Amino acid sequence: MMNMIYDINNIFAKILRGEIPCNKVYEDEWALAFNDIAPAAPVHVLVIPKGPYASLDDFAAHASNDEIAGFYRALGRVARELGLAAPGPGYRTLSNAGAHGGQEVPHFHVHLFGGRPLGPMLR
Ligand code: 5GP
Repeated sequence: MMNMIYDINNIFAKILRGEIPCNKVYEDEWALAFNDIAPAAPVHVLVIPKGPYASLDDFAAHASNDEIAGFYRALGRVARELGLAAPGPGYRTLSNAGAHGGQEVPHFHVHLFGGRPLGPMLR
């Protein structure tokens, strides 16, 4: 059953339904990865699960083991396929949740940054 906190009209839900285009990097049964529209680093990819989860904690609580495994395997695969993972130069992942996290889009997503030294964790 759809969880009650999920807004089916958020922008990433529209991207998943094909109602809004995206610059796709990777897709499988569990996840979609696409370039962020306002990149904060030379590589800035958003990796999202296909299911209706608003945040990391919602995903962790309500997604199936297969969805969770599939999503994180996809995330790691994208980092490898972009040449960022070891022995490559490395990368950073980040997931914002709620007001203090600065979350703008209420569909769980992981930002994948790379392409330059990324500096301190928080500025
Ligand atoms: P949040 O602040 O929720 O963690 O991050 C949302 C991200 O989604 C932002 O980095 C923003 O640039 C990106 N974004 C917002 N709307 C769109 C869109 O329509 N297409 C793409 N590709 N990225 C978007």
